[in-house]
Amino acid sequence: MAPTTAANVGLAARDASGHLSPLTIARRNTGDNDVAIKIMFCGICHSDLHSIKNEWQNAIYPIIPGHEIAGVVTEVGKNVTKFKAGDKVGVGCMVNSCQSCENCNQGFENNCPGIIFTYNSVDRDGTVTYGGYSSMVVVHERFVVRFPEAMPLDKGAPLLCAGITVYSPMKYHGLNVPGMHVGVLGLGGLGHVAVKFGKAFGMKVTVISSSPGKKQEAIERLGADAFVLSKNAKEMQAALGTMDGIINTVSANIPVAPLLGLLKPNGKMILVGLPEKPIEIPPFALVSRNKTLAGSCIGGMADTQEMIDMAAKHGVTADIEVIGADYVNAAMERLAKADVRYRFVIDIGNTLGDCAAAASE
Ligand code: NAP
Ligand code: ZN
Ligand code: ZN
Repeated sequence: MAPTTAANVGLAARDASGHLSPLTIARRNTGDNDVAIKIMFCGICHSDLHSIKNEWQNAIYPIIPGHEIAGVVTEVGKNVTKFKAGDKVGVGCMVNSCQSCENCNQGFENNCPGIIFTYNSVDRDGTVTYGGYSSMVVVHERFVVRFPEAMPLDKGAPLLCAGITVYSPMKYHGLNVPGMHVGVLGLGGLGHVAVKFGKAFGMKVTVISSSPGKKQEAIERLGADAFVLSKNAKEMQAALGTMDGIINTVSANIPVAPLLGLLKPNGKMILVGLPEKPIEIPPFALVSRNKTLAGSCIGGMADTQEMIDMAAKHGVTADIEVIGADYVNAAMERLAKADVRYRFVIDIGNTLGDCAAAASE
């Protein structure tokens, strides 16, 4: 095991209150296959909120969340070939896997039984992983993504989770075919990126949302073709049986049956949202007209690189609200109320040091 000496500070939750405050931690020294990264920006994913509040009952406190990491390489190990100091890079939801099973060999590290998540996971050396609400991170090069030149670090950071999580199911469930009709359920961090990828793939995109206030910007700013207010029975009725697929990004427990009704025969709903409690499916809602309900967990590393390269080519970035590290608890409260357009991104590089210094005074 490599010695752990590099000093580092992060924002940690100590209990299920989820309150985040500075914590000094150690990162391992840069190993032969590792890339050391100075973190500049980190997106706030709703999974961070679920995790710090222990909504999935798997918290290992203290938790330093953050898996939408964008930064600059400061050092590489001697076997590293893909990166050098000064490169703009990203890290998403995984920092390790067994790297030798069938899944890993096929590029689906996300399906590896030995997957190590970027935070709240026990790494192969026995240490608990800490995420990107921190000053630096050391990651095996396999799990580092190159930022295309045209991709800004702040608006690109959310693609490392939100981007790949919607891109991968679109690709593998055939929802990337020009002219097809895809519904994006829930217009948050994941949802708004799904709209942009849907349009980049040449699809017809309809947003299905519980927030009437998002209609105008969904169409005018994000480029959606249509908007269905899920609480409006008339609008739901008009959209019945019209969609080839729905990407379900909703973070809360909502009735799924009426939404399955929006699918065409043989249509697919791909679940990526991870609400706290089980989802109820009345059998007839799925069986009638041959519907499919599938799940999808982030995506593999090759697909993550492919996704960010395509995003750069098509000008797909996240719509963000950049915040200082001292605003993170307020941001979490707003995220819980879906009050963000559409992703908070922490300016780690410019604000984390001051936030930690102020807390230690
Ligand atoms: P987010 O920014 O909070 O967006 C979630 C959206 O869901 C909200 O903007 C809202 O959209 C809708 N929503 C929330 N509460 C609702 C309610 N009570 N009723 C109806 N709609 C509601 O979250 P996110 O970061 O996009 O993440 C979404 C979910 O995906 C989370 O559960 C997260 O843990 C999960 N996730 C999964 C993966 C994966 O690999 N599968 C990866 C990342 C995240 P409207 O206002 O438009 O209704
Ligand atoms: Zn995430
Ligand atoms: Zn594996």
